[in-house]
Amino acid sequence: MPQTPMPTDPLIQIRDLQTHFFTDDGVVKAVDGVDLDIHANRTLCILGESGCGKSIMARSILRIVDAPGRIVEGSILYRNAHGGSVDLATARPGSRQLREIRGQDIAMIFQEPMSSLGPIQKIGRQITETIMLHRKVTKAEAREIAIDLLDRVGIPRPAERFEAYPFELSGGMRQRAMIAMALSCQPRLLIADEPTTALDVTTQAQILDLIAELKEELQMGVMLITHDLGVVAEVAEEVAVMYMGKVVERGDVFSIFEAPQHPYTRALLASVPRMGQGRRDRLPAIRGMVPHPLARPAGCAFRARCDHAMPGICDARQPALKPVGRTEAACFLHHKEALHD
Ligand code: SF4
Repeated sequence: MPQTPMPTDPLIQIRDLQTHFFTDDGVVKAVDGVDLDIHANRTLCILGESGCGKSIMARSILRIVDAPGRIVEGSILYRNAHGGSVDLATARPGSRQLREIRGQDIAMIFQEPMSSLGPIQKIGRQITETIMLHRKVTKAEAREIAIDLLDRVGIPRPAERFEAYPFELSGGMRQRAMIAMALSCQPRLLIADEPTTALDVTTQAQILDLIAELKEELQMGVMLITHDLGVVAEVAEEVAVMYMGKVVERGDVFSIFEAPQHPYTRALLASVPRMGQGRRDRLPAIRGMVPHPLARPAGCAFRARCDHAMPGICDARQPALKPVGRTEAACFLHHKEALHD
């Protein structure tokens, strides 16, 4: 697990972010009061089961949440290269400022490559156009950079693939081409949403290495969304665990793995196979299911699945994130006194 010194000013400072979806059946609080910082040259992994709000939180940063969702509260302060700051949560959608930040300063890698790649333009042309838009290079230099990037994301015969259309590539190769395109503009912040889930382990390792290399080289901040604890252990410096739209625990990667405090984090870590474990040993699964988003329970949202739930306490109020041990966790096991705040 890598460790880089923590810089002082965060690149992104998220405070009380709330992104809700207004459906005919009710309001879904997909992101429900998230506080997070992302620093330059650091990788923050967002961990959680599907539907916990991690992807919507990432899309909120870029202001690309689809209707009927919208940010209803909170701020996303982005510190630009000149030291100024912009609140992305309140920036006018479609504004030039937002478009420039999105295209140049912050890049996102999606699970689905065709959400970034144009279907009727050759891969090479799409990447060189991005490079030339953001870097002072000639067309020939941009071509060289693009082919090198295609090579670095593990595309065989990159010069040949440079001339291919997206539909001529396999799904995995399209995914890698999209990653090459996102990295080609040398963003200050890279948001990667399950970027390697569909790829084989060798390519996955290659891409995670490339992201780590560029992070150091460009002092790039990385927010990586994943449900894969192996990936977290490999690349994260900081970890935030989300459950039903809230961060329930956060801390540096060592503390999260060695001394997790929230019952949900402990259950997630316990459900991963370990070296030396007998083949007949059954892995403990987290019992129950994530509640329906429209049927959010009162109090702690994890209580129906929690072995430590305390009647009269955990169903009375929502626990807030507070320091405990080496991390911060939102759990009354550690903060019963918070009930009397
Ligand atoms: Fe379990 Fe209560 Fe802690 Fe929620 S607040 S995780 S129900 S002990």
